Amino acid sequence: MKVLRCSLLALLASAVFAAPSFDPPKLRLSGSVQPSRYAVDLTIVPDRDTFRGSVDINVEIRTSTEIIWLNAIGLDIQTAGFSPDLGAPLTATTVPSGGQFVGFAFNRMISGKGVLHVTYEGKISRNSSAGVFQLKENREWYVYSQFEPTDARRAFPCFDEPSFKVPWQLTLHVPKDDLAVSNTPVESQSRESKGMKAVRFKQSPPLPSYLVALAVGRFDVVDAGRVGPTPVRVIVPRGKSAQAAYAAMAIPQLLKLLENYFSVPFPYEKLDSVIMPISDFAMENAGIITYAESSLLADPATETINHKRELAGVCAHEMAHQWFGDLVTTAWWNDTWLNEAFATWMERKIPGEWQPSWHLDVTEVNARLGAMRGDDLASSREIRQPIESNSDIANAFDDITYEKGAAVIEMFEHWIGEAKFRQGVQVYLKQHAWGNATASDFEAAMSSVAGVDVAPPFDSFLDQPGVPEVSVALKCTPQPALAVTQKRSLPIGSQAKPQIWQIPLCVAFEADGVVHRQCDLLPDRKQDIALAGAQSCPTWILPNDGEKGYYQVAYEDDLLKKVLTDRGSHLTVAERVGVLGDIDSLAGDGGISAEVALALVPEFSKDPDGHVVQAAANIARLLRGENVPADLREKGARFIRDSFGSRAVELGWTAKPGDSDDTRLLRQNLVPFVAGTGAEKTLVVQAETLATEWLKTRRGIAPDIEEAVLRVAAQFGNRDLFNLLRTAAIQEHDHRVREMLLEALGSFRDPELAKASLDLLLSNEFDLREDFYPLLFGPLAYVDTRDVPFEFVKQHLDALLKRLPREVGEDYAAALPTVGEGFCDVKRRDELDSFFSGRVETYSGGPRALAQTLEGIDLCIAARKTLTPELTAFLSHY
Ligand SMILES: [Zn+2]
Repeated sequence: MKVLRCSLLALLASAVFAAPSFDPPKLRLSGSVQPSRYAVDLTIVPDRDTFRGSVDINVEIRTSTEIIWLNAIGLDIQTAGFSPDLGAPLTATTVPSGGQFVGFAFNRMISGKGVLHVTYEGKISRNSSAGVFQLKENREWYVYSQFEPTDARRAFPCFDEPSFKVPWQLTLHVPKDDLAVSNTPVESQSRESKGMKAVRFKQSPPLPSYLVALAVGRFDVVDAGRVGPTPVRVIVPRGKSAQAAYAAMAIPQLLKLLENYFSVPFPYEKLDSVIMPISDFAMENAGIITYAESSLLADPATETINHKRELAGVCAHEMAHQWFGDLVTTAWWNDTWLNEAFATWMERKIPGEWQPSWHLDVTEVNARLGAMRGDDLASSREIRQPIESNSDIANAFDDITYEKGAAVIEMFEHWIGEAKFRQGVQVYLKQHAWGNATASDFEAAMSSVAGVDVAPPFDSFLDQPGVPEVSVALKCTPQPALAVTQKRSLPIGSQAKPQIWQIPLCVAFEADGVVHRQCDLLPDRKQDIALAGAQSCPTWILPNDGEKGYYQVAYEDDLLKKVLTDRGSHLTVAERVGVLGDIDSLAGDGGISAEVALALVPEFSKDPDGHVVQAAANIARLLRGENVPADLREKGARFIRDSFGSRAVELGWTAKPGDSDDTRLLRQNLVPFVAGTGAEKTLVVQAETLATEWLKTRRGIAPDIEEAVLRVAAQFGNRDLFNLLRTAAIQEHDHRVREMLLEALGSFRDPELAKASLDLLLSNEFDLREDFYPLLFGPLAYVDTRDVPFEFVKQHLDALLKRLPREVGEDYAAALPTVGEGFCDVKRRDELDSFFSGRVETYSGGPRALAQTLEGIDLCIAARKTLTPELTAFLSHY
């Protein structure tokens, strides 16, 4: 404040200049000052809480000014000055904004080119993973960075928006025995006093601030060879090299497939994959991708099929970003989907090409169905959303951007044709390499090869929320044709406004003994589509060919029965899963009766393919929870046992020699479902015995089913098991195993034990970044414990807020209103609303989380009115 008053007085004394504005920008920098290069110098010692920094930014001041605003948070600025290319250097006074900005004010107007020089001190966070932060593994501290979307400003004052894309040159001063890594190879190293060394990295190609990264610590390095000229390494916390074997094998192979798809070589000089002992996290920093330890490392002796698939998916995602996001960067966060939707689409496409036996086409269908379930809310948002606040930036990183975005891309790829779509992607990358781009740039590139203007249909999906529902009826006179209508798919009781899309509609049908496929565009609410090539009336129709379209199908007349004749054996597995998924959604939305949907379950529970069995089990989940009256719940459990019990018991908890990957995956999903929701006693007792034995000896359960066994045991478990799990979790050094133990601790169905697990959030036994989600949200899975998390949050809100990570891109508080997700009555809804209204506004992304939770409760209340009588009727006759 002192600084501010001084410079204001100086300015008031000077009548020559126009009155200056010392108001910081609202959200974005004005653009009147443009950076062209950064030189950053940081001194980082991993066990310290602060670091020292200095930055030289080459800028061009396009409109003369007395103040330069930059982004900065939590930086203690020590000196600042400007050296113009012409003229004498000037000292700046610092104008703090109290928010996301810092101003550097001068005692005269400045313009033209020069270097802005700032020295400062910053914080190394121990309780968040935003900016520069520490993590501990085996008693050693490691320092990492995470800047996306808006946290580079915690590491250096900068122009922290994606369109400021310029070269960076970093120098790190670190303890002499530590390894320092950043985006580029090391240019030079030199010894310094006090046991330190200086590591100077090569200047980077143009990068936005959010893609700059660093890591410092006593890492081990695993050499993964080269892909073309690019050296590939996996950088692990000390002593963990052996666990990186699969990653070191997979990464170069996936990278090759990506280079091949894009037909553009890997854009950077080297690729490091740096492991962080943290959960569920990965970041595509250029040339230095950071990954959560649990998604990349595993003991080769206990590696699971799930781990391999997850690893391939996350690596393909982050490496795809090196082109989609890094080489070509979204111009602003409203087009975050241009980064994230494409990387998500690639996380199944490339591993699917690498390992066809993984059936990732089925995973893709399930991901689409999952995205559609969240997207039918009235509070759902558009993929491409205007950004008016930091909260909007935080919201942009959600399932709509990732999963709906990926599903929409997949639909257009299918409609345009895989080869042409790929050509469009390549044109887009070449046109915008090293620069920024928008949705329109992408659509223009795609249209130029597709031979049709893809923008209107694409925009109808990008700029509107919601899921289209397409009803299809067959007309066979005079010619075979489909009568198609579209509307917005809405759950029972939804208040969302109606709308239409331009839908790329691809259908498959069998006529005259041949399967035909055809694609059309459905731009209107109602349309007749001639079935070209059909001489006679088709025997069946699949209105979503390949199940690749982002729309829900409603089958008119007997079309559903026809497509499912012979258990749909003429369809692919992915298609059968898609049709059953549509039925599941329609039953939840009142589109068909729950009785009709459930009647299909026994037949499809016998399908030879495990993925189809799981889709049938998803329909049976209608019987879970409060929609079934208490006195009929046991009958619901019996229906599940009758349909899936013998298969689940036969699979058992224990792997058999020669089990295929598919069998192992089915075991992981079906056995806990039948044991838990179906209350299958034999399986529950086995789980309890296996879990107790495992906690003592760490033996007796195949690694791929460990988590499910512990979870089911906890679901039916007592205080003794709780104590065993808690002690094991405290003593556990392996991050992955600890994660699993915490999941189990969050799975107790006994309300007292659910409360006891929540109390752990206030103890110092675990890192909140690890235990927050499993412990707080685990109890929402059961009717008996659904109220417990909200009661806990009400009682301990202040204590929680003090402990939680609270950064814009990572504000844990935003998740708090979702503790009401399991509610289904007006009283609890109103309590949740009145408790959080007036509070969530200060949580980044909080208002939207509350709105969605409240809408979910409203819909649950409305759906119950229809579902409960239907489920009652079904079970009464069962
Ligand atoms: Zn991503």
